Amino acid sequence: MGTSDQIIMACCCDIAGQVRGKGFPESDLPNRLKRGIGWTPTNVMITCFDVIAESPFGALGDLALIPDPNATYVVRDAVGEPVEHVMLGDIVTLDGDPWTCCTRSILKQALRRLDDVAGLNVTAAFEHEFQVLGGDAGDAGGTGTAYSLAGARSGAAMGRRIFKLMARNNLRPDTFMKEFGADQFEVTMKPSSGLGAADQAVILRELVRVAAMEEGRRATFTPIRDPAGVGNGVHVHISLNDSAGKPVTHDPDSDTGLSEVAASFAAGITTFLPSILALLAPSAISSLRLTPHRWSAAYNNLGLRDREASVRICPVTTLDPLDIAKQFNLEVRACDAAASPYLQLAAIIHAGTEGIVRGLAAPPVTEADLSVMAAEELARMGIERLPTSLGAALDAMAAEPAITSWFGAEFAAVYQAHKRGELAVLDGLSPGEQCARYLAVY
Ligand code: GLU
Ligand code: MG
Repeated sequence: MGTSDQIIMACCCDIAGQVRGKGFPESDLPNRLKRGIGWTPTNVMITCFDVIAESPFGALGDLALIPDPNATYVVRDAVGEPVEHVMLGDIVTLDGDPWTCCTRSILKQALRRLDDVAGLNVTAAFEHEFQVLGGDAGDAGGTGTAYSLAGARSGAAMGRRIFKLMARNNLRPDTFMKEFGADQFEVTMKPSSGLGAADQAVILRELVRVAAMEEGRRATFTPIRDPAGVGNGVHVHISLNDSAGKPVTHDPDSDTGLSEVAASFAAGITTFLPSILALLAPSAISSLRLTPHRWSAAYNNLGLRDREASVRICPVTTLDPLDIAKQFNLEVRACDAAASPYLQLAAIIHAGTEGIVRGLAAPPVTEADLSVMAAEELARMGIERLPTSLGAALDAMAAEPAITSWFGAEFAAVYQAHKRGELAVLDGLSPGEQCARYLAVY
């Protein structure tokens, strides 16, 4: 095959968190960078189970998916031939305007709003947990491998492949480890600018899948494999910079370390967390993970170095050559990989920006087990239990007027219809059976 016969896939990461797209010959790239590939509005209604939710678009309409050469990865075979070449991109109308339901354009819009109202931009990094199925290194849990060298060894070949694939595609590996759960691993990467961090999260998930596949195994990012098991979280780290690139999240003189603007941003996130949860952890089984004592997130609280807080003020250390101001960041833990990273980051940024717009004061910083506190005490602190089902999270999203002002009425309605369609597929299934359905997808 000559190089001009290579296939490039132009892809989006949609509401279902799935990467979908179409291929074209590499020789056509200059043309496709301009006119994109044809895309269908109703594709946005394809749920993670491939059932099409009730679509306002029906069979009508045409869009274009324009690949972005800055959001690309290539996987090569042993002789260096590309076997998978993907370019992520934006979905636009045939006049070139961003489509109302393009997840990547929605993130760009959120970034623009933060810049418009506060003159700020974000640095972000997504941290991913996943489990590996198959192979003979399987561990059923309870075998002493949590965080261990023996556990890391069981995934070492895959880990090396992951780091290599990341490095070759300009993703900067940070750590790789055997996580607590059975066959569970975690990979983190160095931070990037807002849009780049979300692109990299999409790419990372695919590279991990490729690396596992090359080892004859399958990686799953499903939010939780069985109701009694450990969850696979996505933790989104975020910090703010001014237009000159100076980090502005930290104030060494404040009690929490948060600057005034970052405190308002954090307050926006915790205030709106119940109404954006359906965008951050959007599967029917996500709520099984978001329960107390799983080191995930069950309340809309800001915690200091607390791994059960939805929003955690991360530790900084003088051991790191990097300035404290640069290290300082917030970690949003109520996320999972059933979501599109674009929507996750957009929702966090819109909520935080709203906190700045409204001048919200810093939320109380918790350092205790909220699950044993009286309801009145939580209410006094403005803390509530996060919605305990996808249906309840969607209701909370629909009830919050700010959602339509941030995302537009069309996207908000489409999102509800998509997710209600997904729930309908699961009707009558037990939690265990629902976990099995999602395990097959993510
Ligand atoms: N597995 C936990 C989650 O579901 C996170 C564990 C940790 O890394 O602190 O988010
Ligand atoms: Mg972890």
